[in-house]
Amino acid sequence: MNRALSNLQIDSARLWDTIHETAKFGATKKGGVRRLTLSAEDKQVRDWFRKACEDAGLEVHVDALGSMFGVRKGRDTSKPPVGLGSHLDTQPTGGKYDGILGTLAALEVVRTLNDAGIETEVPICICNWTNEEGSRFAPAMMASAAYVGDFTTDDILSRKDAEGVTVGEALDSIGYRGDVPVGTQKLGSFVELHIEQGPILEAEGKTIGVVDSGQGVLWYDGKITGFESHAGSTPMALRRDALATLSEIVLAMEAIAKKHGPNAVGTIGEAVIAKPSRNVIPGEIAFTMDCRSTDGAIMDALDRDLRAAIAEISARRKVEVTVDLVWRKPPTHFNPKLVDAVENAAKMLGYSHRRITSGAGHDACNLNVKIPTAMVFVPCKDGVSHNEIEDATQGDCAAGANVLLHTVLSLAGVAS
Ligand SMILES: [Zn+2]
Repeated sequence: MNRALSNLQIDSARLWDTIHETAKFGATKKGGVRRLTLSAEDKQVRDWFRKACEDAGLEVHVDALGSMFGVRKGRDTSKPPVGLGSHLDTQPTGGKYDGILGTLAALEVVRTLNDAGIETEVPICICNWTNEEGSRFAPAMMASAAYVGDFTTDDILSRKDAEGVTVGEALDSIGYRGDVPVGTQKLGSFVELHIEQGPILEAEGKTIGVVDSGQGVLWYDGKITGFESHAGSTPMALRRDALATLSEIVLAMEAIAKKHGPNAVGTIGEAVIAKPSRNVIPGEIAFTMDCRSTDGAIMDALDRDLRAAIAEISARRKVEVTVDLVWRKPPTHFNPKLVDAVENAAKMLGYSHRRITSGAGHDACNLNVKIPTAMVFVPCKDGVSHNEIEDATQGDCAAGANVLLHTVLSLAGVAS
């Protein structure tokens, strides 16, 4: 790469201003953003984004699930574009950076190329994926999942929010049911910049996370059936206590995840006692289990060990425990060439960096099944995300955008 090109940098102040300009759409009193997918606030930011793309000379396409694609022509229009972007929707009490940084940094990359008068060999497509967060409609990351064929478009269009409004109705109400069939906007590769949403980069003083993998997920629904009886008159030895059983399962889960660590985590995040009462021994409990690892063999071992532990506990306590696996997402291993391209860009720019695993799900994890994909992480304050106090520095956001810029340049090539 020639010297002028290797010195090319995004406009840090412009990126920062853009992040804060769009944060007013759905701004909360505590400094966060509430921009549920396909809401009035989402329409505001989408309209803003569409205009910004058009002002940057991009051709904007919207697919049947509302995902937005801004295409910048390359010299060779026959090649599928290099995709970059993330999402503009937020959690109900979300922050200013989760998803937004990756989408607006993609716009900043285009603006920088425009300012420098650079034509790439391969086209570039900046993306805003609908409903990454999953807080209004389930599942999360539904548009990128449909894009790769995990769901049909009609299935997703019929999903309802808590008020009974379907995705299709919500799209129509804000005018974002586009005419591009889902999955037909061509992408030759995809790179997503995101805040880490974890504490590792900050703790190690690293600026860039070169994301090489994403965790696989096991979700279970469990039910414990013991026997309700009087808290005063039932001797301890004769009880079939569902909550005491769950307590053992929680500790077994913790021990099993630790045994398979450091690359394994396990959480029981929901537990509901049916008909709870102070003086009744709990007879029935519904609970969930969430286990994650980047290693498929470890996921299998977690499943096996958990089921064995639960069988032993339930037999000893004479209670019935059923466990249904409701979701299994295999681990993501991002494309090695793209991961190297991200790492090389970080190196060339002189940023401290390390390889890292994504603990959270991202659209990039879905897309990786069909398209060579990679991710770039930057630190966020105290690792906090999905919270109005979510914070990141201007310098780190700019560094991430610069890595994105140079990764895209290496993938798209510069027309000579
Ligand atoms: Zn996100």
